Amino acid sequence: MPSSRRSSRRPYTEEYRPLDMDRATGGRTTQQRNGEDWTVQSIRSSDKAYRCPGCHQEIPAGTAHVVAWANDSLFGAQAALADRRHWHNRCWGIA
Ligand SMILES: [Zn+2]
Repeated sequence: MPSSRRSSRRPYTEEYRPLDMDRATGGRTTQQRNGEDWTVQSIRSSDKAYRCPGCHQEIPAGTAHVVAWANDSLFGAQAALADRRHWHNRCWGIA
């Protein structure tokens, strides 16, 4: 059973229009990781390639992945957002 794609769409996520990601986003959730709350944004498809901090491999453009940032940054929410990272779904652990 394939688990890497999710076709379900939650209408209420339409309210969220974060930054430059409004075009290609899926759902947004908050998750606990390393004792911190993280905001995790699903990206259906990107038009840029990113480097995944989990495996240090490239996430090719057009690949569904997640963007995550800590809610409680020492430097504040804006800094945390600016420091967000792109992860493979499987590296973040949601695949
Ligand atoms: Zn990875």
